[in-house]
Amino acid sequence: MHRTLISESKNHIGEQVLLQGWVDIKRDHGKLTFIDLRDRSGKVQCVGYQMMGELTPESVVELVGKVKERPEKLINPNIPTGTIEIEVLSYSVLNKATLLPIEVQGDGKDISEEIRLKYRYIDLRRERMQKTLRKRSTFSHKLREFFYDHDFVEIETPMLTKSTKEGARDFLVPSRLQKGKFYALPQSPQQYKQLLMTAGFERYIQFARCIRDEDLRADRGFEFTQLDLEMSFSSQEEIMRIVEQAVTFAVKAVGGVLKQEPFPVIRYKDAIAKYGADKFDLRTEEEKQQGVLAFAWVVGFPFFKKVDVADEAEKRDGKSGWTFTHNPFSTPIAEHMAWHLNGEHIGEIETAQYDLVCNGFEVGGGSVRAHTPELLSATFKIMGYSDQEIQAQVGHMFEAFRSGTPPHGGIALGIDRLAMLLAQETSLKEATAFPMTSSGKTAIMDAPARVHAEQLQELGVKLEETTPKT
Ligand code: ASP
Repeated sequence: MHRTLISESKNHIGEQVLLQGWVDIKRDHGKLTFIDLRDRSGKVQCVGYQMMGELTPESVVELVGKVKERPEKLINPNIPTGTIEIEVLSYSVLNKATLLPIEVQGDGKDISEEIRLKYRYIDLRRERMQKTLRKRSTFSHKLREFFYDHDFVEIETPMLTKSTKEGARDFLVPSRLQKGKFYALPQSPQQYKQLLMTAGFERYIQFARCIRDEDLRADRGFEFTQLDLEMSFSSQEEIMRIVEQAVTFAVKAVGGVLKQEPFPVIRYKDAIAKYGADKFDLRTEEEKQQGVLAFAWVVGFPFFKKVDVADEAEKRDGKSGWTFTHNPFSTPIAEHMAWHLNGEHIGEIETAQYDLVCNGFEVGGGSVRAHTPELLSATFKIMGYSDQEIQAQVGHMFEAFRSGTPPHGGIALGIDRLAMLLAQETSLKEATAFPMTSSGKTAIMDAPARVHAEQLQELGVKLEETTPKT
Protein backbone atom coordinates (compact mmCIF):
# COMPACT_ATOMS: atom_id res chain seq x y z
CA MET A 1 0.00 0.00 0.00
CA HIS A 2 1.32 3.46 -0.89
CA ARG A 3 1.37 6.37 1.48
CA THR A 4 -1.43 8.92 1.08
CA LEU A 5 -0.74 12.48 2.15
CA ILE A 6 -3.14 13.78 4.77
CA SER A 7 -4.30 16.67 2.56
CA GLU A 8 -5.31 14.12 -0.08
CA SER A 9 -7.08 11.71 2.23
CA LYS A 10 -10.41 13.47 1.70
CA ASN A 11 -10.34 12.37 -1.94
CA HIS A 12 -10.52 8.74 -0.79
CA ILE A 13 -13.85 8.60 1.07
CA GLY A 14 -14.89 5.03 1.72
CA GLU A 15 -11.42 3.72 0.88
CA GLN A 16 -8.56 2.47 3.00
CA VAL A 17 -5.46 4.66 3.14
CA LEU A 18 -2.00 4.37 4.62
CA LEU A 19 -0.99 7.52 6.51
CA GLN A 20 2.33 8.35 8.14
CA GLY A 21 3.14 11.23 10.43
CA TRP A 22 3.36 12.60 13.97
CA VAL A 23 0.82 12.38 16.77
CA ASP A 24 -0.14 16.03 17.05
CA ILE A 25 -2.71 15.69 19.82
CA LYS A 26 -4.23 12.69 21.59
CA ARG A 27 -7.54 12.49 23.45
CA ASP A 28 -8.81 9.42 25.26
CA HIS A 29 -12.57 8.90 25.56
CA GLY A 30 -12.97 5.55 27.25
CA LYS A 31 -12.70 2.88 24.59
CA LEU A 32 -12.22 5.45 21.88
CA THR A 33 -8.89 7.17 21.34
CA PHE A 34 -8.69 10.19 19.05
CA ILE A 35 -5.46 11.46 17.60
CA ASP A 36 -4.76 14.27 15.20
CA LEU A 37 -2.16 12.93 12.83
CA ARG A 38 0.16 15.51 11.26
CA ASP A 39 2.33 15.30 8.17
CA ARG A 40 3.86 17.93 5.92
CA SER A 41 0.51 18.52 4.20
CA GLY A 42 -1.74 19.00 7.22
CA LYS A 43 -3.61 17.27 10.03
CA VAL A 44 -6.50 14.83 10.21
CA GLN A 45 -8.49 13.30 13.03
CA CYS A 46 -8.06 9.55 13.42
CA VAL A 47 -10.21 7.40 15.71
CA GLY A 48 -9.19 4.07 17.21
CA TYR A 49 -11.51 1.68 18.98
CA GLN A 50 -9.75 -0.02 21.89
CA MET A 51 -6.39 0.87 20.44
CA MET A 52 -3.78 3.68 20.30
CA GLY A 53 -4.12 4.34 24.04
CA GLU A 54 -0.37 4.04 24.52
CA LEU A 55 0.54 6.60 21.85
CA THR A 56 2.50 9.58 23.09
CA PRO A 57 2.36 13.06 21.53
CA GLU A 58 4.96 13.60 18.78
CA SER A 59 5.56 9.88 18.25
CA VAL A 60 5.89 8.91 14.60
CA VAL A 61 3.25 6.43 13.50
CA GLU A 62 2.01 4.66 10.44
CA LEU A 63 -1.62 3.67 10.24
CA VAL A 64 -4.11 2.08 7.92
CA GLY A 65 -7.61 3.42 8.19
CA LYS A 66 -10.87 3.92 6.41
CA VAL A 67 -11.71 7.46 5.29
CA LYS A 68 -15.20 8.37 6.54
CA GLU A 69 -17.33 11.42 6.03
CA ARG A 70 -18.18 13.12 9.32
CA PRO A 71 -21.82 13.65 10.18
CA GLU A 72 -22.90 17.26 9.56
CA LYS A 73 -22.81 18.30 13.22
CA LEU A 74 -19.26 16.98 13.74
CA ILE A 75 -17.70 18.87 10.83
CA ASN A 76 -14.74 21.00 11.91
CA PRO A 77 -14.70 24.06 9.64
CA ASN A 78 -11.27 25.14 10.97
CA ILE A 79 -9.15 22.54 9.19
CA PRO A 80 -9.14 21.49 5.52
CA THR A 81 -9.79 17.85 6.48
CA GLY A 82 -12.63 18.83 8.85
CA THR A 83 -15.25 16.98 6.81
CA ILE A 84 -13.65 13.56 7.29
CA GLU A 85 -12.09 11.36 9.89
CA ILE A 86 -10.03 8.20 9.68
CA GLU A 87 -11.30 5.04 11.32
CA VAL A 88 -8.06 3.33 12.29
CA LEU A 89 -7.87 -0.38 11.44
CA SER A 90 -4.24 -0.99 12.34
CA TYR A 91 -1.20 1.06 13.21
CA SER A 92 2.42 0.77 14.18
CA VAL A 93 4.77 3.08 16.03
CA LEU A 94 7.78 3.97 13.87
CA ASN A 95 9.44 6.01 16.58
CA LYS A 96 8.22 6.56 20.10
CA ALA A 97 8.64 10.07 21.48
CA THR A 98 9.40 10.44 25.15
CA LEU A 99 8.15 13.41 27.11
CA LEU A 100 9.40 16.39 25.11
CA PRO A 101 11.24 19.32 26.68
CA ILE A 102 9.13 21.87 24.80
CA GLU A 103 5.58 22.06 23.49
CA VAL A 104 4.92 21.92 19.77
CA GLN A 105 1.45 23.41 20.16
CA GLY A 106 1.09 27.18 20.28
CA ASP A 107 3.37 29.87 18.88
CA GLY A 108 6.24 29.09 21.27
CA LYS A 109 6.87 32.72 22.05
CA ASP A 110 6.51 32.12 25.77
CA ILE A 111 9.42 29.63 25.75
CA SER A 112 12.91 31.03 26.40
CA GLU A 113 15.09 31.56 23.35
CA GLU A 114 17.87 29.42 24.77
CA ILE A 115 15.56 26.42 25.15
CA ARG A 116 13.82 26.92 21.80
CA LEU A 117 17.18 26.96 20.03
CA LYS A 118 18.58 24.03 22.00
CA TYR A 119 15.62 21.96 20.82
CA ARG A 120 15.15 23.73 17.52
CA TYR A 121 14.26 20.49 15.70
CA ILE A 122 11.16 20.27 17.90
CA ASP A 123 10.50 24.00 17.85
CA LEU A 124 10.50 23.96 14.05
CA ARG A 125 7.60 21.50 14.06
CA ARG A 126 5.21 24.19 15.24
CA GLU A 127 2.81 25.45 12.62
CA ARG A 128 4.09 29.02 12.72
CA MET A 129 7.70 27.97 12.02
CA GLN A 130 6.67 25.50 9.33
CA LYS A 131 4.68 28.21 7.55
CA THR A 132 7.46 30.77 7.74
CA LEU A 133 10.21 28.50 6.45
CA ARG A 134 8.01 27.15 3.68
CA LYS A 135 7.10 30.70 2.68
CA ARG A 136 10.77 31.64 2.70
CA SER A 137 11.51 28.71 0.44
CA THR A 138 8.79 29.68 -2.04
CA PHE A 139 9.92 33.32 -1.97
CA SER A 140 13.51 32.30 -2.81
CA HIS A 141 12.22 29.97 -5.50
CA LYS A 142 10.20 32.79 -7.09
CA LEU A 143 13.17 35.17 -7.05
CA ARG A 144 15.29 32.49 -8.68
CA GLU A 145 12.57 31.84 -11.25
CA PHE A 146 12.36 35.54 -12.10
CA PHE A 147 16.09 35.94 -12.53
CA TYR A 148 16.48 32.73 -14.53
CA ASP A 149 13.71 34.02 -16.81
CA HIS A 150 15.68 37.23 -17.26
CA ASP A 151 18.89 35.60 -18.38
CA PHE A 152 20.77 35.59 -15.06
CA VAL A 153 23.26 32.81 -14.34
CA GLU A 154 23.54 31.36 -10.84
CA ILE A 155 27.17 30.92 -9.87
CA GLU A 156 28.80 29.94 -6.57
CA THR A 157 31.80 31.81 -5.24
CA PRO A 158 34.35 30.56 -2.68
CA MET A 159 33.80 30.45 1.06
CA LEU A 160 37.51 30.32 1.85
CA THR A 161 38.80 33.53 0.44
CA LYS A 162 40.62 36.78 1.04
CA SER A 163 39.13 39.62 3.03
CA THR A 164 36.65 41.78 1.12
CA LYS A 165 35.62 44.90 2.90
CA GLU A 166 32.02 45.32 3.96
CA GLY A 167 32.76 47.26 7.11
CA ALA A 168 32.84 44.35 9.56
CA ARG A 169 35.62 42.21 11.01
CA ASP A 170 36.58 39.06 9.13
CA PHE A 171 36.23 35.54 10.43
CA LEU A 172 39.63 34.03 9.86
CA VAL A 173 40.44 30.40 9.09
CA PRO A 174 44.01 29.23 9.68
CA SER A 175 45.64 27.32 6.85
CA ARG A 176 47.08 23.93 7.84
CA LEU A 177 49.22 23.56 4.76
CA GLN A 178 50.61 27.09 4.86
CA LYS A 179 51.11 27.68 8.51
CA GLY A 180 50.85 31.26 9.67
CA LYS A 181 48.54 32.15 6.79
CA PHE A 182 44.80 32.63 6.97
CA TYR A 183 41.74 32.55 4.78
CA ALA A 184 38.88 34.92 5.48
CA LEU A 185 35.26 33.82 5.26
CA PRO A 186 33.41 36.10 2.84
CA GLN A 187 31.67 39.19 4.24
CA SER A 188 30.08 39.14 0.78
CA PRO A 189 30.99 37.83 -2.69
CA GLN A 190 31.56 41.44 -3.79
CA GLN A 191 34.86 41.06 -5.60
CA TYR A 192 34.10 37.67 -7.11
CA LYS A 193 30.81 38.87 -8.53
CA GLN A 194 32.57 41.81 -10.13
CA LEU A 195 35.17 39.43 -11.54
CA LEU A 196 32.30 37.41 -13.04
CA MET A 197 31.42 40.57 -14.96
CA THR A 198 35.02 40.70 -16.20
CA ALA A 199 34.53 37.06 -17.16
CA GLY A 200 31.64 38.00 -19.43
CA PHE A 201 28.63 36.47 -17.67
CA GLU A 202 26.88 39.87 -17.74
CA ARG A 203 24.09 38.78 -15.40
CA TYR A 204 24.83 36.86 -12.19
CA ILE A 205 22.91 35.84 -9.09
CA GLN A 206 23.70 33.74 -6.06
CA PHE A 207 21.95 32.98 -2.81
CA ALA A 208 25.11 33.77 -0.93
CA ARG A 209 25.94 33.02 2.68
CA CYS A 210 27.84 35.95 4.16
CA ILE A 211 29.76 35.93 7.38
CA ARG A 212 30.60 39.06 9.30
CA ASP A 213 32.11 39.34 12.74
CA GLU A 214 29.95 42.14 14.05
CA ASP A 215 28.74 42.93 17.52
CA LEU A 216 25.68 40.78 18.06
CA ARG A 217 22.34 42.44 18.42
CA ALA A 218 19.24 40.81 19.80
CA ASP A 219 18.25 39.30 16.50
CA ARG A 220 21.43 39.26 14.48
CA GLY A 221 23.91 36.42 14.21
CA PHE A 222 27.24 36.32 12.39
CA GLU A 223 25.90 34.81 9.20
CA PHE A 224 23.09 35.67 6.86
CA THR A 225 21.87 34.95 3.36
CA GLN A 226 21.69 37.49 0.61
CA LEU A 227 20.46 37.29 -2.93
CA ASP A 228 23.60 38.61 -4.52
CA LEU A 229 23.28 40.10 -7.99
CA GLU A 230 25.53 41.82 -10.50
CA MET A 231 24.88 42.97 -14.05
CA SER A 232 26.90 44.59 -16.82
CA PHE A 233 26.11 47.40 -19.25
CA SER A 234 23.21 48.60 -17.09
CA SER A 235 22.52 52.00 -15.57
CA GLN A 236 21.59 52.54 -11.94
CA GLU A 237 17.95 52.99 -13.00
CA GLU A 238 17.95 49.75 -15.00
CA ILE A 239 19.39 47.76 -12.11
CA MET A 240 16.88 49.25 -9.68
CA ARG A 241 14.02 48.53 -12.08
CA ILE A 242 14.81 44.86 -12.60
CA VAL A 243 15.37 44.29 -8.88
CA GLU A 244 12.07 46.00 -8.13
CA GLN A 245 10.29 43.82 -10.68
CA ALA A 246 11.81 40.68 -9.13
CA VAL A 247 10.89 41.67 -5.57
CA THR A 248 7.35 42.64 -6.62
CA PHE A 249 6.88 39.33 -8.43
CA ALA A 250 8.21 37.17 -5.59
CA VAL A 251 6.43 39.07 -2.81
CA LYS A 252 3.08 38.78 -4.60
CA ALA A 253 3.70 35.11 -5.33
CA VAL A 254 3.72 34.41 -1.60
CA GLY A 255 0.65 36.54 -0.91
CA GLY A 256 2.42 39.73 0.18
CA VAL A 257 0.57 43.04 -0.22
CA LEU A 258 2.54 46.09 -1.38
CA LYS A 259 1.73 49.60 -0.23
CA GLN A 260 2.96 51.34 -3.34
CA GLU A 261 4.07 50.50 -6.87
CA PRO A 262 6.44 51.55 -8.26
CA PHE A 263 8.45 51.90 -5.05
CA PRO A 264 8.98 55.54 -4.07
CA VAL A 265 12.56 56.84 -4.43
CA ILE A 266 13.76 59.09 -1.61
CA ARG A 267 17.05 60.96 -1.37
CA TYR A 268 19.23 60.21 1.65
CA LYS A 269 19.19 63.83 2.85
CA ASP A 270 15.42 64.04 2.61
CA ALA A 271 15.06 60.75 4.48
CA ILE A 272 17.28 62.02 7.30
CA ALA A 273 15.38 65.31 7.43
CA LYS A 274 11.98 63.66 7.38
CA TYR A 275 12.46 60.39 9.29
CA GLY A 276 15.74 60.97 11.13
CA ALA A 277 17.21 57.81 9.56
CA ASP A 278 17.94 56.21 6.19
CA LYS A 279 15.54 53.37 6.96
CA PHE A 280 11.97 54.20 7.78
CA ASP A 281 8.50 52.79 7.94
CA LEU A 282 5.98 54.29 5.52
CA ARG A 283 2.99 52.30 6.76
CA THR A 284 -0.02 53.70 8.56
CA GLU A 285 -1.11 52.01 11.79
CA GLU A 286 -3.85 50.23 9.87
CA GLU A 287 -1.39 48.98 7.25
CA LYS A 288 0.84 47.67 10.04
CA GLN A 289 -2.07 45.62 11.35
CA GLN A 290 -2.75 44.31 7.86
CA GLY A 291 0.86 43.27 7.30
CA VAL A 292 1.33 45.54 4.27
CA LEU A 293 4.87 45.85 2.89
CA ALA A 294 6.03 49.41 2.24
CA PHE A 295 9.13 49.31 0.06
CA ALA A 296 11.12 52.41 -0.89
CA TRP A 297 14.46 53.15 -2.50
CA VAL A 298 16.97 55.46 -0.88
CA VAL A 299 19.56 57.12 -3.13
CA GLY A 300 22.07 59.96 -2.96
CA PHE A 301 24.25 58.64 -0.14
CA PRO A 302 27.58 60.21 0.75
CA PHE A 303 30.47 57.97 -0.36
CA PHE A 304 32.57 58.57 2.76
CA LYS A 305 32.03 59.21 6.42
CA LYS A 306 34.33 60.02 9.33
CA VAL A 307 35.58 56.90 11.06
CA ASP A 308 33.74 56.00 14.25
CA VAL A 309 36.70 55.62 16.62
CA ALA A 310 34.73 53.26 18.83
CA ASP A 311 34.51 50.82 15.92
CA GLU A 312 37.73 48.82 15.50
CA ALA A 313 36.83 47.54 12.02
CA GLU A 314 36.13 51.06 10.81
CA LYS A 315 39.38 52.31 12.31
CA ARG A 316 41.24 49.58 10.46
CA ASP A 317 39.52 50.34 7.13
CA GLY A 318 39.69 54.13 7.28
CA LYS A 319 43.33 54.93 7.96
CA SER A 320 42.93 58.60 7.01
CA GLY A 321 39.97 59.13 9.31
CA TRP A 322 37.59 58.66 6.35
CA THR A 323 35.93 55.37 5.51
CA PHE A 324 33.28 54.29 3.03
CA THR A 325 29.61 54.48 4.05
CA HIS A 326 28.53 51.40 2.06
CA ASN A 327 30.97 49.87 -0.35
CA PRO A 328 34.52 50.79 -1.38
CA PHE A 329 33.94 49.24 -4.80
CA SER A 330 31.24 51.75 -5.76
CA THR A 331 31.63 54.60 -8.19
CA PRO A 332 30.86 58.20 -7.27
CA ILE A 333 28.14 59.89 -9.32
CA ALA A 334 29.42 61.36 -12.59
CA GLU A 335 29.13 64.96 -11.30
CA HIS A 336 31.54 64.21 -8.43
CA MET A 337 34.06 62.16 -10.37
CA ALA A 338 36.70 64.91 -10.44
CA TRP A 339 36.45 65.49 -6.67
CA HIS A 340 36.84 61.78 -6.12
CA LEU A 341 39.85 61.37 -8.37
CA ASN A 342 41.51 64.42 -6.77
CA GLY A 343 40.50 63.61 -3.19
CA GLU A 344 38.61 66.90 -2.79
CA HIS A 345 35.37 67.70 -0.95
CA ILE A 346 35.51 64.20 0.47
CA GLY A 347 32.49 64.57 2.76
CA GLU A 348 30.37 65.82 -0.14
CA ILE A 349 31.12 63.12 -2.71
CA GLU A 350 27.95 61.22 -3.55
CA THR A 351 28.04 57.52 -4.39
CA ALA A 352 25.90 55.75 -7.00
CA GLN A 353 24.46 53.65 -4.17
CA TYR A 354 20.84 52.58 -3.73
CA ASP A 355 19.35 50.95 -0.67
CA LEU A 356 16.03 49.17 -0.57
CA VAL A 357 14.09 49.67 2.65
CA CYS A 358 10.89 48.02 3.82
CA ASN A 359 8.84 48.57 6.98
CA GLY A 360 11.74 50.26 8.77
CA PHE A 361 14.45 47.79 7.74
CA GLU A 362 17.21 47.96 5.16
CA VAL A 363 16.44 44.92 3.01
CA GLY A 364 18.92 45.56 0.22
CA GLY A 365 21.80 47.66 -0.91
CA GLY A 366 23.82 47.98 -4.06
CA SER A 367 25.68 50.32 -6.32
CA VAL A 368 27.17 51.01 -9.68
CA ARG A 369 30.84 50.02 -9.35
CA ALA A 370 34.21 51.41 -10.14
CA HIS A 371 35.48 49.48 -13.15
CA THR A 372 38.79 51.27 -13.73
CA PRO A 373 41.97 51.03 -11.61
CA GLU A 374 42.17 54.85 -11.31
CA LEU A 375 38.81 55.09 -9.66
CA LEU A 376 39.22 52.21 -7.23
CA SER A 377 42.69 53.42 -6.38
CA ALA A 378 41.36 56.92 -5.65
CA THR A 379 38.84 55.44 -3.19
CA PHE A 380 41.55 53.67 -1.21
CA LYS A 381 43.79 56.77 -1.36
CA ILE A 382 41.04 58.83 0.24
CA MET A 383 40.89 56.21 3.00
CA GLY A 384 44.61 56.73 3.58
CA TYR A 385 46.16 53.67 1.92
CA SER A 386 49.65 53.87 0.40
CA ASP A 387 50.19 52.68 -3.17
CA GLN A 388 51.77 49.53 -1.80
CA GLU A 389 48.88 48.83 0.54
CA ILE A 390 46.39 49.43 -2.26
CA GLN A 391 48.26 47.02 -4.47
CA ALA A 392 48.25 44.39 -1.73
CA GLN A 393 44.52 44.87 -1.05
CA VAL A 394 43.05 45.11 -4.53
CA GLY A 395 45.92 44.69 -7.02
CA HIS A 396 44.12 41.65 -8.44
CA MET A 397 41.12 43.86 -9.21
CA PHE A 398 43.32 46.35 -11.05
CA GLU A 399 44.64 43.56 -13.22
CA ALA A 400 41.11 42.42 -13.96
CA PHE A 401 40.05 45.98 -14.71
CA ARG A 402 42.87 46.21 -17.25
CA SER A 403 41.74 43.06 -19.01
CA GLY A 404 38.40 44.29 -20.35
CA THR A 405 35.89 44.80 -17.54
CA PRO A 406 32.53 46.19 -18.65
CA PRO A 407 30.74 48.87 -16.64
CA HIS A 408 28.63 47.07 -14.07
CA GLY A 409 26.65 47.30 -10.86
CA GLY A 410 24.61 45.15 -8.57
CA ILE A 411 22.83 44.68 -5.31
CA ALA A 412 22.36 42.30 -2.43
CA LEU A 413 18.93 41.62 -0.95
CA GLY A 414 18.70 40.39 2.64
CA ILE A 415 16.74 37.17 2.37
CA ASP A 416 16.45 36.63 6.13
CA ARG A 417 14.98 40.09 6.61
CA LEU A 418 12.59 39.79 3.70
CA ALA A 419 11.43 36.39 4.93
CA MET A 420 10.92 37.85 8.40
CA LEU A 421 8.80 40.71 7.04
CA LEU A 422 6.78 38.42 4.78
CA ALA A 423 5.95 36.24 7.76
CA GLN A 424 5.06 39.36 9.79
CA GLU A 425 7.62 38.42 12.38
CA THR A 426 9.77 40.91 14.29
CA SER A 427 12.93 38.85 14.78
CA LEU A 428 15.26 37.43 12.13
CA LYS A 429 15.52 34.28 14.22
CA GLU A 430 11.89 33.48 13.49
CA ALA A 431 12.70 33.25 9.78
CA THR A 432 15.95 31.28 10.12
CA ALA A 433 16.04 27.53 10.73
CA PHE A 434 19.07 27.37 13.00
CA PRO A 435 19.96 30.86 14.22
CA MET A 436 22.45 31.63 16.96
CA THR A 437 21.48 32.66 20.44
CA SER A 438 21.90 36.32 21.32
CA SER A 439 25.19 35.44 22.97
CA GLY A 440 26.62 33.87 19.81
CA LYS A 441 26.08 30.19 20.62
CA THR A 442 24.94 27.96 17.78
CA ALA A 443 21.56 26.27 17.86
CA ILE A 444 21.54 22.69 19.21
CA MET A 445 25.30 22.14 18.94
CA ASP A 446 27.53 23.88 21.36
CA ALA A 447 29.80 26.15 19.35
CA PRO A 448 32.07 28.00 19.63
CA ALA A 449 33.84 25.15 21.39
CA ARG A 450 37.35 24.28 22.43
CA VAL A 451 39.30 22.03 20.09
CA HIS A 452 41.94 19.38 20.70
CA ALA A 453 45.49 20.53 21.31
CA GLU A 454 46.61 18.36 18.34
CA GLN A 455 44.29 20.24 16.01
CA LEU A 456 45.81 23.54 17.06
CA GLN A 457 49.29 22.14 16.68
CA GLU A 458 48.52 20.99 13.15
CA LEU A 459 47.39 24.50 12.34
CA GLY A 460 50.38 26.09 13.99
CA VAL A 461 48.13 28.00 16.35
CA LYS A 462 49.06 28.64 19.97
CA LEU A 463 46.51 29.90 22.44
CA GLU A 464 47.52 32.50 24.97
CA GLU A 465 45.37 30.91 27.61
CA THR A 466 44.96 27.17 27.47
CA THR A 467 43.23 26.21 30.69
CA PRO A 468 39.89 24.75 29.65
CA LYS A 469 36.98 26.56 31.21
CA THR A 470 34.37 24.34 32.71
N1 ASP B 1 28.35 43.80 -1.38
C1 ASP B 1 27.26 44.56 -0.82
C2 ASP B 1 26.82 43.95 0.48
O1 ASP B 1 27.01 42.76 0.69
C3 ASP B 1 26.07 44.61 -1.68
C4 ASP B 1 26.32 45.13 -3.05
O2 ASP B 1 26.77 46.28 -3.17
O3 ASP B 1 26.00 44.42 -4.00
O4 ASP B 1 26.22 44.62 1.30
